[in-house]
This record gives sequence, C-alpha cells and structure tokens, in this order.
Amino acid sequence: MSAFRHLFGPVLSRRLGLSLGVELVPEKTCSYDCVFCQIGRTPCTTLERARFVPEDEVLADFSAWLAGGGKADHITLAGAGEPTLHAGFGDILDGLRARSAIPTVLMSNGSLFYVPEVRAASAKADIVKVSLSGWDEASWRQVNRPDSSLRFDRVLEGIRAFARDYRGTLWVEVFLVRGINDRPEQVARIAALVNPLKPACVHLNTVVRPPAEPEARSVAEDAMRELAALFHPPAETPVSDRSRSVSAGAGGGLLETVTRHPSTLAQLVESLHGDPGSLLKELEALEKAGRVESVMTEGAVYYRRRRDPVNPSGG
Ligand code: SF4
Repeated sequence: MSAFRHLFGPVLSRRLGLSLGVELVPEKTCSYDCVFCQIGRTPCTTLERARFVPEDEVLADFSAWLAGGGKADHITLAGAGEPTLHAGFGDILDGLRARSAIPTVLMSNGSLFYVPEVRAASAKADIVKVSLSGWDEASWRQVNRPDSSLRFDRVLEGIRAFARDYRGTLWVEVFLVRGINDRPEQVARIAALVNPLKPACVHLNTVVRPPAEPEARSVAEDAMRELAALFHPPAETPVSDRSRSVSAGAGGGLLETVTRHPSTLAQLVESLHGDPGSLLKELEALEKAGRVESVMTEGAVYYRRRRDPVNPSGG
C-alpha cells in the first residue's frame, strides 16, 4: 500500500507523464453509473457534496510526499468516483498550488458544472477533462446512467458555461460503447455538442478494461479512427497495444494497482517492474483469498479487485 492515505501513484500516463493521483471521494461515490466504468457499478448515485476526506489531511499527505522527494509532471484529482462531489476540492486545488508549481488536473464527468461554485472551483485546475458521451436525454441515460434527478440539458448547459469562461486547458472525453452510441450519425450528434466547446483536445475512448456491465463492448480500432475525424480538433483514440496503455509508478503495489486499473499480466510486469512468474503467483494467491478476480475482456485476461457480497469492501 502507498504510505499516503489520499495519494496514489505516481502513475505513468501517455498524456500526463508521471501523474500523482489525489483521492477525494470514497469508492465508489459518483453521480453516474456508466456502463463502461472500470471501477465497477455505482451502488447508489448521489449529487450530495460533502467533505469526504479533510482538506488538511490531503494537503499534509502532499507536503510529506514533496518533502520525501516526490516528483511528478501533474497532480490529478481523480480516483474511485467523481471528485467534484468533494465540497472542498477548490480549497485543495488552492493548497496544492500554494505548495508546488506542479500543474493540476481535474478529471470530472462534468455533471455538477451547472452549480456555479463547482465551476469556480474547477477553474482553479490547470487542465480540466469533462466527459460527454450522449447527445440527448435518452442516449445519455443509456450510457452514463446518471442520478435520476439530473437532466441532460442542465448538465450540458453547465459544461457550456464552464467552457465559455475557463482560461485553462479543456479536454473532453467521449466514451463509445458498441451498439449504444457508436453509429456515425450518433457520434456526429455528440461532435456537434463537443466541437463548439472548443476543447484543446478530444479523447475518443472505448471499452479496453473490464467494464461495469460485461455486455458493454468495445468499438473496433478502424471505426474509432474514422469517427475521430468528426471532432475538432480530430479526436485522439486509444493506443492499441494493451501493454502500453497505463503503467503505475513505484508508489503502487499489486493490489492497489489492480484496484484502480484492472490490468493484464503484461501490464503489471511493465508497471511494477516485476517478474512474470512471481507476479502470477501473487495474483493467484490474491485470487484464492478472494481479493482479486480475473475476467476476460476483448480477448485478454484482466485482473481486478474483487467486489462481491462475500467481501464487499474487497480490502
Ligand atoms: S466512469 Fe467516471 S463518471 Fe462514470 S461511473 Fe465511473 S467514476 Fe463515475
């Protein structure tokens, strides 16, 4: 386990380099229950914002990490849920900035951006990524399964208001699921909403890791590349080589890594710099103890933390 309660990684990511994760909400606290979510199902969606973890604890962890010689290219507010549900995330962004010059990143589903104070707090991050994977109420409900009190028009207006005023770098993620929102005319409707936001970058993603719903299937690479051209700027698509899609830095252990990133053995070998035989033995032992499970996704075996009624916390 990491020595820090509220930090994870740093994780090596293609877009952010070495990225230190900050966990602000307990698993899994989210306003959405996306069919593709790699963390698993949301037991109960919520819009209730709270101080799930004290700001001073998070900042104390960060100060200790810095004092220990911690280095990262970015600090990312993300984790096992929606970070804007933390009522003090703006203060945490202020505190991170006061302690270091490392750029901050907020990974949000954007569902709470209709709340002015959420937009104001989000604007403190250097990079903000929001997601938009539907084009109307019905398609959004099908793919993101939002809290029942949310409305698509309201969420969209919030994202538009944020994009209009934000002075930092805006990224938009569009997540495609085969048979749900991947037809060219459907993606064109999503692009018609995304392009006017004038994002610096669009990430067109599909199911790569085990999703919350096993029937959520990935879109073929060729189709993804064609659909990417509908966006301005043209969307970036996932790297096909599974072994390169993510790797954790030295801060993450085996269980911690598969909790946040369900991974293949090859990915774990790369990310943890481990020996395949020993890692496989460790995985088998964790599987036997009911803490990890292996699942087949798109032809590859992924290991992820087990969540079931026998061991609901999986911890
Ligand atoms: S993918 Fe993100 S927004 Fe969707 S349910 Fe998972 S944590 Fe929430």
